Amino acid sequence: MKITRIRCYRVDLPLHEGSYKWSGGKSVTTFDSTVVAIDTDAGVTGFGEVCPLGPFYLPAYANGVRAGIAELGPHLIGEDPCQLGKLNRTMDAALKGHAYVKSGIDMACWDILGKVTGQPVCTLLGGRYGDNFHLYRAISQEAPEAMASRVGEYRAQGYRRFQLKVGGDPGEDIARIRAVAAKLQTGDRLIADANTGWLMHDAMRVVRAVRDIDVYIEQPCLSYEECLSIRRHCDHPFVLDEVIDSIDMILRGHSDRAMDVVNLKISKLGGLTKTKQARDLCVSLGIAMTLEDSWGGDIVTAAIAHLAHSTPPEFLFTATDFNSYVTVSIADGAPRRVNGRMAASKEPGLGVTPRMNELGRALIDVA
Ligand code: MG
Repeated sequence: MKITRIRCYRVDLPLHEGSYKWSGGKSVTTFDSTVVAIDTDAGVTGFGEVCPLGPFYLPAYANGVRAGIAELGPHLIGEDPCQLGKLNRTMDAALKGHAYVKSGIDMACWDILGKVTGQPVCTLLGGRYGDNFHLYRAISQEAPEAMASRVGEYRAQGYRRFQLKVGGDPGEDIARIRAVAAKLQTGDRLIADANTGWLMHDAMRVVRAVRDIDVYIEQPCLSYEECLSIRRHCDHPFVLDEVIDSIDMILRGHSDRAMDVVNLKISKLGGLTKTKQARDLCVSLGIAMTLEDSWGGDIVTAAIAHLAHSTPPEFLFTATDFNSYVTVSIADGAPRRVNGRMAASKEPGLGVTPRMNELGRALIDVA
């Protein structure tokens, strides 16, 4: 089988809550997402999606996805989309780095592989564990009491894992963690995600001040070394996210005992092929995972569902249902949250059919 054409579509994804705010005053009101369609000479088309969390979160931006695919696309015409290891080697040889650019292409090729073999992607990624898996809910950064008031609302939707966006003023962040912790019930889990926002002295103040609270601390500072310093000075369970962008960083973090949990984002690592490699390594090393992406709509959410559903449950710390945060549905067949949980489609491939009328005309068309 050969790739004959690669198209990119842009779709805007507004948020139900109007905006999403995190550390350092960063916020997004409408996400700019790219849907990738890959046609083959067998008449099978696969779909992928890449959606950066704005241009100021990871080294990724929405126009960069499309520019990168315009650059990479001609190298992939004629390649076999089902030979995913080989295809990734071809992408890495043609374009150095830019993992996020490759993510939607790789995702679309997994969709093709599933359709051709008649298997859902989660089966191809290792197998389906149980009926469904649990999700977390991010609580956008607001004043402490406003964030605390969200807990009951989200618990009513079935969520039991709450990820607070902190990484602001340390005194206010301590108040945020305390206010939300006061709302928790037995079985709930709380994660304070600073998204690189604290300097080390800020982070030290916060972790000392909330020492009596059962809370995970996620990516307190910008660099790996700063996070490692905080890790060595606190006894909370510790999550690394933004700095975990490669196999090398997982091995380094494991060697230093720098974290208990890692956050693997599909586009941060460069697609499902490389995230599967990272996921499987974490299972071998005993590291639990949050499995998600930087952001996305129905297609990214479907890919997360296949990745999460094919992960041994004790290793799946949590996963994300981005398609329930946004007001626009871009595909039929996408997984939907039910009582705080989600399941991967049992249809071949990712199990999604894009709503082409939502996507408009192709901005990039390589054939
Ligand atoms: Mg995070």
